[in-house]
Amino acid sequence: MTNPNSSISLVGGRLAIDFANLPSLPAAGESESLSWEKLVEFLHATRIVSLDRAEELWKLTDSDPQAASDLLGRAERLRDALRFVFKALTANERVPSEWVAPINEILRVTEGHDELVETTSRGWRMEYIAREGGLDWLLAAIARSAADLIVEGQPSEVRFCANPACSLFFYDNSRTHRRRWCSMSLCGNRHKVAAFARRRNLKRRAASA
Ligand SMILES: [Zn+2]
Repeated sequence: MTNPNSSISLVGGRLAIDFANLPSLPAAGESESLSWEKLVEFLHATRIVSLDRAEELWKLTDSDPQAASDLLGRAERLRDALRFVFKALTANERVPSEWVAPINEILRVTEGHDELVETTSRGWRMEYIAREGGLDWLLAAIARSAADLIVEGQPSEVRFCANPACSLFFYDNSRTHRRRWCSMSLCGNRHKVAAFARRRNLKRRAASA
């Protein structure tokens, strides 16, 4: 699912969590603010929009800068609210209504309906089909996914990666519900390598003492 050329890592396991993780892999010195390119890249990587539509959106900053900036502002507010909501969920704390407001704001402006969609692996699932028109519908599926996670309640399976250098949320759908890393390849293995190096250093120090 993840495009190898994309700098977006979709390790969250749920759409709203992947969105809260944006920009998921900020390069050193890169700010946490959401860029238009990153937003469009995300919409395409998660198949909310087709490649053609993504290319159209890319040019929107030239053709209709106001519309692009409005949507980006709304997206950023949604992302920041989701981070607060998920932080509360990971700590099994009450989700304050002011952080739910930006989610409701998008649910309110995006009309749509549920539709049964056949999948190749798991039979049928419900998919939210937003009515096209305006740009806010682009965020509808994300807001909907966030609402589902909040409604699931607590104890929540939303987790924060155990790597202190990582800031990604993920959804723990493991059988034991004890997953610690956003992804084994990103943080789990890194942790194992670091623990191995620590043990080796300790042994070396013990040997030279
Ligand atoms: Zn991580």
